Amino acid sequence: MRVLLIGSGGREHALAVGLAADPSVDFLAAAPGNPGIAQVAELHEVKATDPAAVAALAVELAADLVVVGPEAPLVAGVADAVRAKGIACFGPSAAAAQLEGSKAFANEVMAAAGVPTARSYACTTPDEVGRALDDFGAPYVVKNDGLAAGKGVVVTDDRAAAEQHAADCGKVVIEEFLPGPEVSLFVVTDGTAAVPLMPAQDFKRLADGDEGPNTGGMGAYAPLAWAPDDLVPRVLAETVEPTLAEMRRRGTPFAGLLYVGLALTPDGPKVIEFNARFGDPETQVVLALLETPLAGLLNAAATGTLAQLPPLRWRDGAAITVVVASQNYPGTPRTGDVIEGAEVPGVIHAGTARRDDGALISAGGRVLSVTATGPDLAAARDAAYALVDGVRLDGAQFRTDIALGAVEGRIKL
Ligand code: AMP
Repeated sequence: MRVLLIGSGGREHALAVGLAADPSVDFLAAAPGNPGIAQVAELHEVKATDPAAVAALAVELAADLVVVGPEAPLVAGVADAVRAKGIACFGPSAAAAQLEGSKAFANEVMAAAGVPTARSYACTTPDEVGRALDDFGAPYVVKNDGLAAGKGVVVTDDRAAAEQHAADCGKVVIEEFLPGPEVSLFVVTDGTAAVPLMPAQDFKRLADGDEGPNTGGMGAYAPLAWAPDDLVPRVLAETVEPTLAEMRRRGTPFAGLLYVGLALTPDGPKVIEFNARFGDPETQVVLALLETPLAGLLNAAATGTLAQLPPLRWRDGAAITVVVASQNYPGTPRTGDVIEGAEVPGVIHAGTARRDDGALISAGGRVLSVTATGPDLAAARDAAYALVDGVRLDGAQFRTDIALGAVEGRIKL
């Protein structure tokens, strides 16, 4: 199989490693890729959000399968353009990607499908914002309605900060606060059949102890030994199947990766958000444990043959990833710093670039996603932090408590 992967972050490096390890893949290209991805794939330049350009590249490379990593190309219609050329594409249509592209749309679909989620209001005027904040009370949850790369949400007890975020965004969704530990569940789907991957937990706040601003994600781990045994079947029955059915009913079936972000509330799992693609950095840990060849799985979803795939196989043990971010992230990150110790197995590249002289430099907010597995979570954690110790990046920021609560048995439902 000839595969073209679209994207350039840590998620795509993890996908590239998985695709390259699949014996059915005899050619792997990535566009635009990054220096980490370059170790396992041939890189091509492309504007990832330009559907015609991506489709033309897929034709030129005689790709059998295109895998779209990030949300922006999906919302822009890249999967539609690739399929229009007769090439299989893993990733939803632009219409279906609205599940991530618009929080208001996602809430509409969830309401129609009877999916358990937070009560919410779509607001545009200060009046509407005020009424919604009054209704729910603190902590306030204010979400930008459009794509915000995982950073459009403010959760705060500070009413003025909630009002300010709403004013800055224009169109927002204001939600009831959902208490409880968060879980990310990835579901591979061809629109009808749904194959859940292993649930993972990520860490959205910048600093230890869940302090500091929200980020795209600072680390993740799997499996979740503390999660209820019926979590996955329950979420499939209550959330995933009804959502896929509602999307089919609307004539816009969702095929690709449905990312279900959940809060395990006292009333059961409730949806915090849907995404239309693999999550970053949870992908790094989930794929590190997946034994089933990745390209075959994604190709089955892309070609509507998922129901015929044998059950997934998983490796024993646990995986953890620790994100190393640049100075000032998630504000305007400092870039251009030389990175050392990052060209070793397990160090996933998220925001790196190659300088003219060949040096590896930082090129984004989240720079590396340092990933390790082990026979148990404690061992995986030690291995990942040992790898982090070997990395040199001026001004680097990383959390020291990824998966610590799980290792110490402190997570309570
Ligand atoms: P999102 O971009 O929707 O994933 O939101 C980012 C983070 O904000 C989530 O991972 C949660 O920690 C938090 N969050 C979002 N919505 C809610 C909610 N309704 N209740 C509690 N926390 C939330």
